Amino acid sequence: MPKSMYIHIPFCNRICTYCDFNKVLIKNQPVDAYVDALIKEIEMIEPQTLKTIYVGGGTPTALSEQQLEKLLAVIDGRFSVEDEFCFEGNPDELTLDKLDLLHNYGVNRISLGVQTFNNDLLEVLGRSHNYDDIFRAINHMEKIGLDNYSIDLMYNLPGETMDDLDQSLKYIEELKPRHISWYSLIIEPHTVFYNRMRKGELTVDDDEKEGEKYLYVIKELEKLGYPQYEISNFAQPEFESSHNKTYWKNDNYYGLGAGSHGYINGTRYYNVKPVNHYIQAMEEKSDALKESLELSVKEQMEEEMFLGLRMNRGVDITRFEEKYGKTLDSVYGSVIEEECAKGNLVRDSGHVALTPQGRLVGNSVFLGFLD
Ligand code: SF4
Repeated sequence: MPKSMYIHIPFCNRICTYCDFNKVLIKNQPVDAYVDALIKEIEMIEPQTLKTIYVGGGTPTALSEQQLEKLLAVIDGRFSVEDEFCFEGNPDELTLDKLDLLHNYGVNRISLGVQTFNNDLLEVLGRSHNYDDIFRAINHMEKIGLDNYSIDLMYNLPGETMDDLDQSLKYIEELKPRHISWYSLIIEPHTVFYNRMRKGELTVDDDEKEGEKYLYVIKELEKLGYPQYEISNFAQPEFESSHNKTYWKNDNYYGLGAGSHGYINGTRYYNVKPVNHYIQAMEEKSDALKESLELSVKEQMEEEMFLGLRMNRGVDITRFEEKYGKTLDSVYGSVIEEECAKGNLVRDSGHVALTPQGRLVGNSVFLGFLD
């Protein structure tokens, strides 16, 4: 059974220009009813000890202190968390009181949505916070001794220069967060960004420049003591995100909340997404399941490969055999050999992993493992 749980809070105080996540503007939303519905869903799960809980969004910190406390009290009453209890938060919403509340209920990691330290770029992204908010939130965390936080950043922003990356690296060196996520901005359809790009009002780097920035970030973070452990994630030793590794190791997890998905024993399932539909489903049927999809063993193995290869450590050869009763070579021997010959994969006795070159063309390597 799952040892990890994802809980989704779909509300945001402001909608960022690039965002295509599962979120809604909080204004006029039935937030209290949502929290009640979520609590009902949480209460459907047996009390137990979990390894990780991750509360993400949207923005979980968009909830009021009262709403947060109500939710946290239920989680606390049913589950103990052995390892990581993480909350996503926006810098302007992480007040000292909210942080104190989270910490008192056992939250031991914050994933802080910084994106960039450049105020002009934050404005372009439509973020609700500014430079000062970032430092205020970090200050608060330091004050209450919540020192395990991730700074979540983006690169390849319109108008971003190498100086902006250097500025972020300088702050990382100064602040010494435990963990860094650094994703390339992806322009998704149906976003403000996408429309501005189409009108020619915004441009981002071409693939070559983006690749250069990516390699630069990897190299510089390594120098600062943050080795890369996943395509977009970097951590001090012992501070890799155990919750996110659940996904990359293709392990089971519960998914709760509107539109969230879970994975249990080879079945992926999805909840209904619109907030009102979710609330209604929980109120009327105590069940918000939209769809569940039983994966064939072959599909499970494919996912094991392309998720596992996201990690620098790669896919664990023994674990694969234990899970599927077949050796990795008997299933994917020829693809692995081919990609090793191209210099995209490397193997030792325990793992098969992407090389630095392979990481740049990751998607094409992953395709080799799909039917
Ligand atoms: S805060 Fe996060 S989820 Fe909300 S709009 Fe911005 S990027 Fe999207």
